[in-house]
Amino acid sequence: MLIVMDKNATDEQIEVVEEKVRSLGWTPHEIPGSIRIAIGITGNRGAVDQTLFANMPGVVECIPVSKPYKLVSRDVKPEDTIVRAGGIDIGDNRLVMMAGPCSVESRSQIMEVAEFVKSHGAQFLRGGAYKPRTSPYSFQGLKEEGLKYLREAAEKFGLAVVTEVKDTETLPLVSDYSDLLQIGARNMHNFSLLEAAGRIKKPIMLKRGIAATVEEWLMAAEYIASQGNYDIILCERGIRTFETYTRNTLDLNAVPLVKHLSHLPVVVDPSHGTGSWELVVPMALAAVAAGADGLLVEVHPHPEKALSDGKQSLRPEKFAELTQKLQQILPAFNKRYN
Ligand code: PEP
Ligand code: MN
Repeated sequence: MLIVMDKNATDEQIEVVEEKVRSLGWTPHEIPGSIRIAIGITGNRGAVDQTLFANMPGVVECIPVSKPYKLVSRDVKPEDTIVRAGGIDIGDNRLVMMAGPCSVESRSQIMEVAEFVKSHGAQFLRGGAYKPRTSPYSFQGLKEEGLKYLREAAEKFGLAVVTEVKDTETLPLVSDYSDLLQIGARNMHNFSLLEAAGRIKKPIMLKRGIAATVEEWLMAAEYIASQGNYDIILCERGIRTFETYTRNTLDLNAVPLVKHLSHLPVVVDPSHGTGSWELVVPMALAAVAAGADGLLVEVHPHPEKALSDGKQSLRPEKFAELTQKLQQILPAFNKRYN
């Protein structure tokens, strides 16, 4: 249930309501908005009796929320959420560009990519150090050494860091090196990792699972929010379908759909969404037209030598072409690049 407080409700009135929620064994979540403050309730089994709160001072109304996700839904917060990560706002009218190699492979590789993507307007440097590879014999990432190179490169060129956290064991370490923590498609259903991510104070980018419905994806986001971390960005990265010419099918329906259902920002990853570099630029542009708040794009100076995902990585000149095209089309969507 959602308790909507009067816009002039005092801090004390809000605290009294929250204390009552706690006394019933539930958790209150304060949801600030531009015209009202609302308090979401989680932890209840079954419907909450509205009369418990309806007559309390400062309470305007009690709205039942019937969806299986609540805190991430628009029912609870009608305004768009802007998530701030590494000093960068995600979800406003500037398209956020997150770019870099699939994996951090060496210091010189990440330095080279960082310098290039920064000079073409990226705000985030991406690069995996703990890689969730399908085969145990594939390159697994440089681990902490990779995180160090990534952080050094980002700092040298004035970029923020987004990198994947693969498990709860490495969460504190990966969190120390990053501004935005990526939970990958394979881990979207890893509920212990989602809950642990909900207990830290670091923005999370949650990728859609390989075969997850939009509702399952939003419920996974709810796991994070239910633990008190509301700084969540959703990332559409394609889903597995019967099509075999592409690695995944980039589900651009999901962008306007999720923006209708949820207040969270949505980033699109056309690299994993297609699996081939030839398709990345057109699908990145399509993602912007669909309403994406940002793009996550794999860029590698020598894709033929990449230790992971070379086939879908853009060469620097192709990335430059993408950023030029974005600048041309973004004004049509009331957005800007950089
Ligand atoms: C990645 O971003 O390199 C990655 C492994 O992504 P996904 O979880 O979408 O496969
Ligand atoms: Mn990759």
